[in-house]
Amino acid sequence: LTSGLEAAWTKLKGEEVLTKENIVEPMRDIRRALLEADVSLPVVRRFVQAVSDQAVGVGLIRGVKPDQQLVKIVNDELVKLMGGEVSELVFSKSGPTVILLAGLQGVGKTTVCAKLANYLKKQGKSCMLIAGDVYRPAAIDQLVILGEQVGVPVYTAGTEVKPSEIAKQGLEEAKKKKIDVVIMDTAGRLQIDKGMMDELKEVKKVLNPTEVLLVVDAMTGQEAAALVTTFNVEIGITGAILTKLDGDSRGGAALSVKEVSGKPIKLVGRGERMEDLEPFYPDRMAGRILGMGDVLSFVEKAQEVMRQEDAEELQKKIMSAKFDFNDFLKQTRAVARMGSMTRVIGMIPGMGKVTPAQVREAEKNLKLMEAMIEAMTPGTAMYNHIMYHALPWMVDCRCFASRITQLEQYIKFDESVCAYLETMSLVLLLSPFILFS
Ligand code: GDP
Ligand code: MG
Repeated sequence: LTSGLEAAWTKLKGEEVLTKENIVEPMRDIRRALLEADVSLPVVRRFVQAVSDQAVGVGLIRGVKPDQQLVKIVNDELVKLMGGEVSELVFSKSGPTVILLAGLQGVGKTTVCAKLANYLKKQGKSCMLIAGDVYRPAAIDQLVILGEQVGVPVYTAGTEVKPSEIAKQGLEEAKKKKIDVVIMDTAGRLQIDKGMMDELKEVKKVLNPTEVLLVVDAMTGQEAAALVTTFNVEIGITGAILTKLDGDSRGGAALSVKEVSGKPIKLVGRGERMEDLEPFYPDRMAGRILGMGDVLSFVEKAQEVMRQEDAEELQKKIMSAKFDFNDFLKQTRAVARMGSMTRVIGMIPGMGKVTPAQVREAEKNLKLMEAMIEAMTPGTAMYNHIMYHALPWMVDCRCFASRITQLEQYIKFDESVCAYLETMSLVLLLSPFILFS
């Protein structure tokens, strides 16, 4: 998925804004990437539409390129698709919280029982497991062993008792012991079948669970959509747990669950150890899918420090030569607020080549410039010269590329530094160097 999406961004390099025309190709790549990642077709369609609608006509944010903006839009839509916020487990206010786990065979239900107990125990809750998989004696043993491992009691009644009866007895036992959270393991089948659904319905009726969580193997891909829908319609679920995210799953399952069922993924399993269970963070998952990591935080920071209106106003001023040193300082400080240049550079992909010494030098120059500007008095010859002739010429960013060579006459920067400067609209910050040398 990641490499497919990267192709999409590359196609926007050199473009100035996102338009209906220039997003056609990238959107096609995004669509293909999602389908290859096993996201179901209706979900892909809705997603691509939502992204296109937003991308066209999105305003220019100074210092952020259109391809980065598209990454940001895609990211935000991915997060939204996966439910936006973290969905916390719900706990019962009276009596024990009951969590019923369902799912196909081998997806990790039994493992999740113990992992979840371990997870909740760390939050100071007492837990009890109920062994409800009566079809395989080994399943009960497995749960007992895992329970011991995490130090949580397991209620068993052998394989001769009906699951709904085991559920009833287990729940009574838990109430007697004033247990906070009861987690019931159930049997899975290779395929969805009526027997399994009926049994689950019965168990659900007896337990009246606070949470019914469908355990889904992340490798399931597209089929996850159908699976979640069926379980939700048949027994009614409150959320899902995505397991085996440590494998090389393509992420499709994560993207479809919320969209098709309206139920959030609440937790994810990322390994076989008891510690490998954590809340599902839609934003982190989106980041993982995009593989772009810090580009996003870069775009966000740029948005934060320089709101779009500010940027537009600034641009107007520059074009009409009314840009003065106060604006210049504002811009300088906006960049400074984004953190030290070293960090900012670190956030831009492909910028690894810049040495710390170069960055320190650039930072020093920036400070020097600020000091010079602060010392200048409006109305002096030098001020006027810079204000009315040199600066407007310099800050016309659209001509930036052709001026890099001219810049280089004065400052010895390598290619990557120039690209960095361009990204940050740092041409503004550099202009005085040229004028004073
Ligand atoms: P069940 O049939 O749904 O109860 O599945 P189990 O809990 O017995 O798990 C089936 C297999 O998947 C076991 O070998 C588990 O160790 C393994 N497993 C479960 N969760 C994860 C996970 O998050 N990552 C990995 N790599 N393996 C897992
Ligand atoms: Mg099992």
